Amino acid sequence: MRVKDVMKADPVTLKLDDRIEDIFEAFKKYDIGSVIIVEKEKPFQIITLRDLPRICYLNLYSNFISNVLKVLDKNRDSLITVYYNKSFFDALGLMNKFKISHLPVVDRRKRLVGILSIRDIAKKFPDIFYIDPLTKVNNRAFLNLLSHRLSKVNSSVSFLMIDIDNFKNINDKFGHVIGDKVLQKLGKVLRSNVKITDEVIRYGGEEFLVIAYRCDLEDAKKLGERLRKSVEKIKMRELSGVKITVSIGISLYNKNEDVLEVIEQADRAMYEAKKLGKNRVCIYLEEKLIS
Ligand code: GH3
Ligand code: MG
Ligand code: MG
Repeated sequence: MRVKDVMKADPVTLKLDDRIEDIFEAFKKYDIGSVIIVEKEKPFQIITLRDLPRICYLNLYSNFISNVLKVLDKNRDSLITVYYNKSFFDALGLMNKFKISHLPVVDRRKRLVGILSIRDIAKKFPDIFYIDPLTKVNNRAFLNLLSHRLSKVNSSVSFLMIDIDNFKNINDKFGHVIGDKVLQKLGKVLRSNVKITDEVIRYGGEEFLVIAYRCDLEDAKKLGERLRKSVEKIKMRELSGVKITVSIGISLYNKNEDVLEVIEQADRAMYEAKKLGKNRVCIYLEEKLIS
């Protein structure tokens, strides 16, 4: 299968001298995850939904796209594209390697002819994409599916960001193969300690995200503690007595809130847990962090 068989033709594009408002308008108008910035029919850069919080944060609304790209440090050379006649699986490899969710597709003359987006691909081939091959829990791409489902949930939903403490030391001391086994074990422990309907997602290298339904902050704190203690109990022959611990940050999802924003809050609480000495659970409460 070739890229051209899977890509979406006619992606939404804007030009360097368009304004940043146009990007927001484009996201509002079309159900898309990215806008491609083009210069003379060639893709110059790509702006994804994930860039929007940063654009807002940096207060760049009233700027031209060219300026915004500069501030975001996105130049033409850093854009990864794929040739339309390449194998689809090579394109997937690129997306995986560079951790990108959208890949502009070009012809031989480097003109933009389409876009590959994880979301579109996932719609066509649901199963390949949502499982992390190492830990067998859901991967980050799965989050794209969840945003829609979450917006329909009426009860409390808590997000728990879980990061292994001093994992670098484990890799350094025992090697990456053992490090990988620890990740596998952690995936299992998390999966078996949450409800079957809850989500366990490998969010980054050694970071997992648990999404717990019908779970307010009080329940989430209990769940976080239970997970923390279960991880502490992990015993692996290969670790010769070294304890695995995790720091956990919790935030509460409100209906229709931006999922990335909620993740960011859980992340901040998790970093607070690190700052307070690791192996603990912290909760994000608006501007306050409590442990
Ligand atoms: P902290 O307690 O502050 O979280 O420190 P840390 O050492 O856990 O954090 P840091 O972010 O410095 O290191 C994370 C390490 O996770 C670095 C990287 O080598 C390792 N890692 C990420 N993904 C994988 C993976 O798939 N397998 C293995 N074995 N290690 C991984
Ligand atoms: Mg980390
Ligand atoms: Mg860590």
